[in-house]
Amino acid sequence: MALPPLVEPAAELTIDEIRRYSRHLIIPDVGMDGQKRLKNAKVLAVGAGGLGSPALLYLAAAGVGTLGIIDFDTVDESNLQRQVIHGVSDVGRPKAESAADSIREINPLVNVIIHNTALDRDNVLELFSQYDLIVDGTDNFATRYMVNDAAVLLGKPYVWGSIYRFDGQASVFWEEHGPCYRCLYPEPPPPGMVPSCAEGGVLGVLCASIGSIQVNEAIKLITGIGEPLVGRLMVYDALEMEYRKIKVRKDPNCALCGENPTVTELLEDYEDFCGAVSAEAEEATQNATITARELKDWQDSGKDVFLVDVREPAEWEINRIPGAVLIPKGEILSGEALSRFPQDRQIVLHCKSGVRSAEALAAIKAAGFKDAVHVQGGIVSWVNTVDPSLPSY
Ligand SMILES: [Zn+2]
Repeated sequence: MALPPLVEPAAELTIDEIRRYSRHLIIPDVGMDGQKRLKNAKVLAVGAGGLGSPALLYLAAAGVGTLGIIDFDTVDESNLQRQVIHGVSDVGRPKAESAADSIREINPLVNVIIHNTALDRDNVLELFSQYDLIVDGTDNFATRYMVNDAAVLLGKPYVWGSIYRFDGQASVFWEEHGPCYRCLYPEPPPPGMVPSCAEGGVLGVLCASIGSIQVNEAIKLITGIGEPLVGRLMVYDALEMEYRKIKVRKDPNCALCGENPTVTELLEDYEDFCGAVSAEAEEATQNATITARELKDWQDSGKDVFLVDVREPAEWEINRIPGAVLIPKGEILSGEALSRFPQDRQIVLHCKSGVRSAEALAAIKAAGFKDAVHVQGGIVSWVNTVDPSLPSY
């Protein structure tokens, strides 16, 4: 389904612009008209991370006139493997500012607007209303649902992408012409079921594959050319090198864009909607949570601690707490590893940040290890409070 252009053309292109964009101008479908529409377009990138990095670089190079960047995070060394808009000298700087500098270097004709803040329910509607199109590169479900809800409430299209290890997905959600994200995924996955990229990893170049699809779709929407990915989900498998397109229909029962919507304004709390940990895990951690410092004190005092790292082997290769044994969460939840747990020692579980260990703790307690505890904040907290010399990730 072809759609009309999202943006009106700018009055004219300058001589500099005509020179710079000549390879666009000679494509009949883009031409002067399309380039003027790009010039007039205002696009907001949510996140200057894995997807936002390549997306912003190409949106800038393509001549999108106004580019907004919202990101509250700072550049970390572990970002550089995929977030190619940032460089070594940017480590420690706000991502939004670092990205803006790279954009200015690529194309000084772009008006860059920096939003060095977290996207939240108090600013999302006001912010989105200043732009024609949103490019969503968020990596967590709470923000993803909030982006979707805000876009639908404002009647704005947005280009969505997600990445994990070797798998990527992309689509265009535009309530007026097709389904929304909630039509595709009515409910967030149970907490702990879907690991984040920080937990599960992501092949750096996958960001470019999916980010470039997002830019491709953004350009099509702005200029009104081709068939946008509205109502279709692009699924990419980098290992098989396979792209599949799946039809996604508008769900008449969608809580947001369906016939009888129950969500008519932004939710009070998206974190809550997506749930940090499951109810079972929440209950299991009551009076069964220690700090990294307390764990260290237990170890130093000679307490007989059976310390279990429930992360994945690849994470274990990066860093580990002395004295720990590796038993990934999956082996605990399946029951497979339960025989390895001693009855007569103090069981302490930890993961990266405390979410997976809480889930594992619920399973361990259910298996009869009533005194087991987990470490709040996981190995991240251990690095921060006990041993800063350990590498972090
Ligand atoms: Zn919907």
